[in-house]
Amino acid sequence: MVTHFIAGEYVSSNGSATKDVINPATGDVVDTVPRGTVDDVNDAVQAAAAAFPGWWETPAAKRGAIMYEAVKAIRANVDDLARLLTSEQGKPLAEARMEIHRFAYTIEHYAGLAKNLRGGYVPNLDENAHGLILKRPYGVCAAIVPWNFPLSLLGNKVGPALVAGNTMVIKPAETTPLTDVKVIELMSRAGLPPGVLNLVIGQGSVVGQRLLEHPTIAKVGFTGSTEVGRRVMATAAETIKRVTLELGGSDPLIVCDDADVDQAVSAASVGRFFNCGQACLAIKRIFVFEAVVDEFTDKLVAKVNRLTVGPGTEPRVRLGPLHTPEQRAEVEDQVRDAVERGATVLTGGKRPEGQQYENGNFYLPTVLTDVDPAAKVLTEEVFGPAVPIVPVKDLDEALARANDSIFGLGSSIWTNDINKATRAAEKLEAGYTWINSVAKIYDELPFGGFKQSGLGQEHGIEAIDHYMATKAVVVKTLE
Ligand code: NAP
Ligand code: MG
Repeated sequence: MVTHFIAGEYVSSNGSATKDVINPATGDVVDTVPRGTVDDVNDAVQAAAAAFPGWWETPAAKRGAIMYEAVKAIRANVDDLARLLTSEQGKPLAEARMEIHRFAYTIEHYAGLAKNLRGGYVPNLDENAHGLILKRPYGVCAAIVPWNFPLSLLGNKVGPALVAGNTMVIKPAETTPLTDVKVIELMSRAGLPPGVLNLVIGQGSVVGQRLLEHPTIAKVGFTGSTEVGRRVMATAAETIKRVTLELGGSDPLIVCDDADVDQAVSAASVGRFFNCGQACLAIKRIFVFEAVVDEFTDKLVAKVNRLTVGPGTEPRVRLGPLHTPEQRAEVEDQVRDAVERGATVLTGGKRPEGQQYENGNFYLPTVLTDVDPAAKVLTEEVFGPAVPIVPVKDLDEALARANDSIFGLGSSIWTNDINKATRAAEKLEAGYTWINSVAKIYDELPFGGFKQSGLGQEHGIEAIDHYMATKAVVVKTLE
């Protein structure tokens, strides 16, 4: 049984409640973990607070060097970590490997910025006085992460927090704690001082809630649904905690009449069905110019029909199971709602048949047309393998439909017309716009959702600022 990881070691819970971690492809129990308590969180925060002065005082370059050692330890264990991730999350092994590499790359990226932390100097502030702008870590930060990308979404918080000199308490999703805790163990054994990274397993309503209420925690990095994000922000307000929120999305893909349709089809297939559609930045609504909508639709359906559904451990599989039965039920409800409002199912729209699918949460990749604008697949976030195609007459209509959402996470456009591309980049209400490219995140670029998709930014040098307080100092030299 895997337990919490606090002050450099595995620690059992103060309580006795446990929960099974279930393999989404087979229904088997992968491991049993504690359901953390408020006291467990208090212990972890205490360990992080005790470790903070030492980590802050560590020269930044040395912090970076320790982070590099941690990256090496993760890379040396990619295969084992990927198998563990697939067993608890469900994604195909190839995607699990990519995610572990992505985590390592993010930590490496921030380790590389350790020597570039900067403040400011303001001359001649007053007679014989100048100003300094100091940047200092907040102290103890919390990271709350979901189950869809348990590793890469953790790296986005751990990387900038650690390089800035903070210590951290992590709460993984209750259904995917195993790879996260293993990675924290590896990083600690590689040289991170005890208490710098701590992890408490448990429910959002208990462990997450306590982290948000704990007076010692200054900053919370949260990734999850918009619904929970609202509550996170409200609870954090009680103690004026800093928050970074990366929330839900319903990303539009616009395909213009001059686009390379074959490439746009490939992008739509990867962008929608990666991780079985359970990605914040997945393509969730497709708007295609009328002139090419038939060609695009036929080619997308043909491509989708070639995607192999099955357990993530099988090499040919492109779509694993949905993460939980509830997650599948939600997608089924959204597709049913679209059909009741007149939508046509071009492919999928049901579970695959056969014995190998019986114990897992499988669902066929699904393409819909004739979708009513009020259908849930257009108004809600679809966190699974189903996508509506909507014909539009021109770019203005495409932009208006694309922006007609409470979400504003990512967006993309396929066109060979520089004017359309530039206009879309300016007008799309989203934190990212990809032009002739698939939804892909770069550590080099800042990313944060518009509207109800988020607050603050992760990635980029910018993310470090979200883990540091700015302080002004006046220096007066005496005559
Ligand atoms: P979720 O239900 O919001 O959960 C996210 C995390 O918050 C989990 O660890 C959860 O714990 C915890 N939590 C739940 N209630 C809480 C509370 N009252 N206080 C503190 N923490 C609480 O999200 P999800 O359904 O797991 O993940 C999918 C969502 O994440 C989608 O909407 C997706 O778009 C979004 N997402 C956004 C990004 C981005 O970068 N913008 C990236 C990936 C995913 P437990 O579930 O363990 O109880
Ligand atoms: Mg949830």
